[in-house]
Parts: sequence; structure tokens; C-alpha cells
Amino acid sequence: MKILIVEDEPKTGDYLRQGLAEAGFVVDLARNGPDGLHLALSGDYDLIVLDVMLPGLDGWGVLQTLRSGGREMPVLFLTARDSVEDRVRGLELGADDYLVKPFAFSELLARVRTLLRRSRGKEPEVLRAADLELDLLRRRAQRAGQRIELTAKEFALLELLLRRRGEVLPRSLIASQVWDMNFDSDTNVVEVAVRRLRAKVDDAFEPKLIRTVRGMGYVCDAGDAGEAADAGTPAER
Ligand code: CA
Repeated sequence: MKILIVEDEPKTGDYLRQGLAEAGFVVDLARNGPDGLHLALSGDYDLIVLDVMLPGLDGWGVLQTLRSGGREMPVLFLTARDSVEDRVRGLELGADDYLVKPFAFSELLARVRTLLRRSRGKEPEVLRAADLELDLLRRRAQRAGQRIELTAKEFALLELLLRRRGEVLPRSLIASQVWDMNFDSDTNVVEVAVRRLRAKVDDAFEPKLIRTVRGMGYVCDAGDAGEAADAGTPAER
């Protein structure tokens, strides 16, 4: 799941970015209002953590533009003071929740998870392929009933593969979605991560779920079910 942080205070921004990334989210950080709005409108975010006092365009302005443009992703406001007017104004503009600075990271994480759970509604909270299960809210993976420990990046990688099950995902796309790296970056990191992920979720199990499609990328499917769709595609382990 992808989160945008809009926060101009450098330390707070870095701290939030690191914390949320370690919690398994894909995170972008904007350090002023206009950049934040631009990213929010162009990126596909599941949630936005939005500071109120921002250079260029304040959090109110960002939120108002988003909502009037029909963007309904949950927004968690960060306010510097606990004033009733700020709170009311934020809620009237369509903020979903707010936190008063300073706050504990654990509190922010709990609010983020609650908002995501609420906004998902009918969206599945658990992604599945064969007997593999990825619980997006509890951040847990298991296969054939056995718990599998994944790093944050491995979790994000597996989530991407499962969300786009049956689709061949190029390394460059994986690099940009999971590592925030651009097309020209060394995509060896993707190969290494896929190898590690397979060792955890595929090596001891059947059917194999993650396949390499030579010269194209990786695909997740349940093997048997995918054969017909992939007929003629050279595949290798
Ligand atoms: Ca600020």
C-alpha cells in the first residue's frame, strides 16, 4: 500500500518516511504544498499524511483541491496545535482524522491502519494465491498454514505480485513500485529480492507461484491455472 507524506519539517518528514517504510508501506515524501498536491493528483495513493502548515500551499488548500477533484483517499491531518477551529475546519474540508504534534509514531501507525481498514471497505484484506495468504493489515504472510517472516521490502514485493496476479511485471516496474528507483537503476536488486522471496514462499512448497518470464519480468500465478493463459511464453525458474 502506498502512502504520501506531505511535511516540510525535514526531521519529521524523514522520520515518518522511514517509520512507515519499515512498517511495510511504499512511501513518497513531499516537502511543500505544491509538490504534495502534484504527487497526490498524479500518484495512486491509498492514504495521505498531510501537515497543515506548509510552504507554497497549506494543508487546507491541498485537501480542498483534492476533494473538489474527486479524490477520496483517506487524509490524516497533522496539526501543530490542538485547536477546535483547526479540527473542525479539517473535518469540514474532508479530512478523515487528525493528530496533534508532537505525537508518538505508534499512534500515527495505529491511525493509519484504522483509516486504511475503514477505506478499504469491500476490498480484500487478505491476498491469496493457492495456499499462500498475505494479510495486508496484520502484515503477515503464511503458506500452507505456516507463518513466513518477510522483510518490509519482501512484503511490498509479494503484495505487488499478488495484486497484479497473472500479469508479467517488468523489473523496472517492480523497482519503481517497491524501491522507488527509476528505470535506469541497477535492477539487480530486484532479482536478488525475488530470489530471496522465492526461497521463503516457494522453495518448500508446491505449486511454485512466482515465475520468471525470460526477458520480460516476473509473474505470480498458481501454476496450473496460469498455464493456459501463458501458453507459448518461455518461462523458467
Ligand atoms: Ca509544517
